[in-house]
Amino acid sequence: MNVAAGVLERSRLQCLFDRLQAAGYQCVGPKVHEHTIVYEALHSAAELPFGVRVQQGPGSYRLAPGDGPRCFAWANGPQTLKPYLFAPRETVWRVQRQTDGRLVFAPVLAPVPKLAVIGVRACDLAALRLQDLHFLTPPYRDPSYRARREALCIVAVNCDQPAATCFCVSTGDGPAVESGYDLLLSELDEGFLVRCGGAIGTALCAELDLGVATAAHYAQERKQLAFARSAQQRRLPGRDLRKPLANALEHPHWDEIAARCLGCGNCTQVCPSCFCHSTATVPDLEGTTADCVREWDSCFTAGHGYMHGYQVRPDIRSRYRQWLTHKLSGWHDQYGRSGCVGCGRCIAWCPVGIDLTEAAAALCVSEVHT
Ligand code: SF4
Ligand code: SF4
Repeated sequence: MNVAAGVLERSRLQCLFDRLQAAGYQCVGPKVHEHTIVYEALHSAAELPFGVRVQQGPGSYRLAPGDGPRCFAWANGPQTLKPYLFAPRETVWRVQRQTDGRLVFAPVLAPVPKLAVIGVRACDLAALRLQDLHFLTPPYRDPSYRARREALCIVAVNCDQPAATCFCVSTGDGPAVESGYDLLLSELDEGFLVRCGGAIGTALCAELDLGVATAAHYAQERKQLAFARSAQQRRLPGRDLRKPLANALEHPHWDEIAARCLGCGNCTQVCPSCFCHSTATVPDLEGTTADCVREWDSCFTAGHGYMHGYQVRPDIRSRYRQWLTHKLSGWHDQYGRSGCVGCGRCIAWCPVGIDLTEAAAALCVSEVHT
């Protein structure tokens, strides 16, 4: 990890908010809301979840009192960066009938605020890199995503309290943040070790009046990260599962999962890398204007598997199989790596507690199923 710019005392965290707001950023960050830590608009540092920890397990998420004054001593909540860049529902283009009958098509770009997201974890930065590949690789760059991406300031945080559902070590994506941030915070007993990345972060750091980072600060950071690595119990059976999953397409374990899975799609909604969407043309009542509206979809919906009068994934077994094999196998061919960054959200937020790591382990046994 590179050298820190300095140390920000916990009592001066508000200075970071002040500097971001003075630079024109709306701040979004973690906040306790209805017994969950969610991203919401933040106006001051006092709104952060101080003294809170999170207990997560398959199908389970609970807040509990923390044992100190820290505000980032928990792993992640249900939300990711995804909705701030890939909007859950938005109009992408509009067609208008002219008085002479011609149709004129035009892109629709909503106004984009400068947004600073505070508390972004290593797994979510890894998912952001995947979303960038999907939405920004030429020749099909998504203009809405691109505008939001360019207006984004990322204040990342190193994880020191992984949840029982986390397995970012096994995917190679955490718990330490290595790149992709404007500012990076490591929360320590007495404050935050601050690193800056790029011009925005450097300018912010210069205004924060940071204290000197000492060997003791770095030692505490190393110790916390070592704990975060060693505390993770879950893992995937490998980083590239294309071969074992290709051999497991008729494995009986798909039936066991299908007997439990509700087909609700929660796993795809909370996943920071899932990008499936559907589009619908929505006309006005006069028939002069129609909007093409894009919204998040899921491989668990019937519509997602409907093609030309035929349902290609008629049951939950085939939908779950599509999700897992695309995520852990197909992404390698599309994007050069697995689509899973080990955040564990699909495990915690699955209402019946289906565990991706257990499923992958059961499916990737050495026995070959054809
Ligand atoms: S598949 Fe599950 S653990 Fe992996 S990135 Fe998506 S939500 Fe996180
Ligand atoms: S695996 Fe869980 S979250 Fe995903 S569709 Fe099935 S029941 Fe819903």
